[in-house]
Amino acid sequence: MKIAFIGLGNMGGGMAANLVKAGHQVHAFDLSADALTKAGEGGCQTFTAVPDAVADVDAVVTMLPNGAIVKSVYTADVIGKAPKGALFLDCSTIDVATAREVAALASDAGYEMADAPVSGGIAAANGGTLTFMVGASDATFEKAKAVLEPMAKAVIHAGEVGAGQVAKMCNNMLLAIHMIGTCEALALAGKAGLDPQKFYEISSKSTGYCWSLNDYTPAPGVGATSPADNGYAGGFASALMLKDLKLAMEGAQSAGATVPMGEHAKAIYEAFVEAGNGGKDFGAIFTTL
Ligand code: NAD
Repeated sequence: MKIAFIGLGNMGGGMAANLVKAGHQVHAFDLSADALTKAGEGGCQTFTAVPDAVADVDAVVTMLPNGAIVKSVYTADVIGKAPKGALFLDCSTIDVATAREVAALASDAGYEMADAPVSGGIAAANGGTLTFMVGASDATFEKAKAVLEPMAKAVIHAGEVGAGQVAKMCNNMLLAIHMIGTCEALALAGKAGLDPQKFYEISSKSTGYCWSLNDYTPAPGVGATSPADNGYAGGFASALMLKDLKLAMEGAQSAGATVPMGEHAKAIYEAFVEAGNGGKDFGAIFTTL
C-alpha cells in the first residue's frame, strides 16, 4: 500500500519505519527537518508539504502532539487532498470530542476515519509492539487492522469512532492512580520498617499486584527493572502523563463522570511537572514521598 505518515517524532519515526519494513511505500511529512531526514534514512519517501504527501495514497496515518494540531492538519491539508476513499488513521492521543469531530468532517467528505491511539512507549513504537485501541465501524476497523498490524502487538476494536480515545484516557487515568498508590506503598513499607524488596515479593503475589508494582517497580533497586534504576531517565515522561490526565478530566467532565482519584492524580502530576520534573519518568513520584 501507499501510506502517508504525518508526525515523525519519538513515536511516529519508529512506526513509519515499521510500515516500510512491512513492504509499504511510505510518504513522510513532519515540520521538523531532522525528523524528516531520519524518516528518509529509515526508507520513507520524504515530502515538504502535506497535500503532496497524501495526493495518491491508500491511507494516511497521523501521530501528532494534540487535538488542535490533528484538526488543523486534517481540515487544511488532508481532507479534500487525499484521494476519495482513502483511509485516515489518527494514532495521536487527543480529546474524544475532537476525535469525533474530525472523523465526522472526514466522513462528510467521503473518507473513512478511525481513532487509533496506542499504549506502549518509544521502545514499543520502534519494536512494532504497540497496542492499538481503535474507534471505528466494523468495516473500517478491518481495513485499519491491515495498516496497523506491522506496528502492533495487538489491535483491538474498542467500539465506534471516539471509543479508542475513551479507552486510552481511562487506561492512563488508571495507570496514574496505581502508579501513585504503588509509590506510596513502597515508601510506607520502607519507613515502617519493612524491606521494600520484601514488600515487592509479598504484594506482587498478593492483592496489591498491578503493572506499576510487578512490571515497572518505581523504587530504585527494588523488584522489576524500570527507569527508577536509571535515575528515572527514559520511560514515560511525567509531562505526557499530565497531558493524558488533563484529557481524562476533560472527558470526565463532558461525560458527567465523577473521578475523585483521577482529579487527585492530576493535581499530583501537575505539581510535579511544575516543579521542573516534566522530563522524568512518571514513576519518579516515588522521590516526592
Ligand atoms: P513528539 O513531539 O516526539 O512528535 C510529534 C511530531 O509531530 C514532531 O516531530 C513534530 O515536529 C510533529 N508535528 C507537530 N506539528 C506538526 C504539523 N502541523 N505537521 C506535521 N508534523 C507536526 O511526540 P511523540 O512522543 O511522538 O507523541 C506523539 C503522540 O503520541 C502524542 O499524541 C502522544 O501523546 C502520543 N503518545 C506518546 C507516547 C510516548 O511515550 N512518547 C506514548 C503513547 C502515546
